[in-house]
Amino acid sequence: MSQQHFEYHLDDFTESGYREIIRSARSNYRFESYGTESDEPHVLWRHDVDFSPHRAARLAEIEADEGVRATYFVLLHSEFYNWLEADVTGRFRQIADLGHDLGLHFDASFYAPYAEQAALAEALDFERSLLERIFGRDVRAFSFHNPDVGDALQFDADEIAGMVNAYGRGTKERYAYCSDSNGYWRFHRLSEFLESGHVFAQVLTHPEWWTPSAMMPRDRVQRAIDGRAAATAAGYDELLARIGRHNAR
Ligand SMILES: [Zn+2]
Repeated sequence: MSQQHFEYHLDDFTESGYREIIRSARSNYRFESYGTESDEPHVLWRHDVDFSPHRAARLAEIEADEGVRATYFVLLHSEFYNWLEADVTGRFRQIADLGHDLGLHFDASFYAPYAEQAALAEALDFERSLLERIFGRDVRAFSFHNPDVGDALQFDADEIAGMVNAYGRGTKERYAYCSDSNGYWRFHRLSEFLESGHVFAQVLTHPEWWTPSAMMPRDRVQRAIDGRAAATAAGYDELLARIGRHNAR
């Protein structure tokens, strides 16, 4: 369908739309962690944090408010945020303190192509240990970043490097799947997916697609970029003012 005639359901992607979706999910499912062995109807609710830890922290608050838990997958190679920047690390700590799990969002393209799973496992293990040392929490699951790019999806073992693979064969077979893709519903609208009677579901959202008010998808990305740029500039100005230096322009 052409872009002009596509239905974007922009109101779905707001904070109030998100809260409604969480309530609907909660009435149908228990929220479980990756690796669960539960036979009760449940959902694995996951966020791949590609662009915005700040949006992630906001969604984490809404979820905690509604009494559910999710897993937040941290990307170590984002072009949009630095996970070791104090403010960003603080957001992820805050998310974990709200009772959510932290996972590893793994960018396989950062490393050489993998002929063998052992090399992949070594890189995964390395990044997991970084996350665990900084956050002081167990990291029990990973998801591939940009899984359609490169050869990552050929590694579909259910567990690699002691972590549950969100794209593992077993998870794929057991769980119906819905994702917010690029800020719109490519296949199913999430609200309808949650009402369609799947016993086990995996839901993937990317926090930057969920904003206080309705915006077109590309504008939501720009919002994350501009917010970060403005905060960086303000931080620089504040520092110079604090130490009494000239800030000529
Ligand atoms: Zn990603």
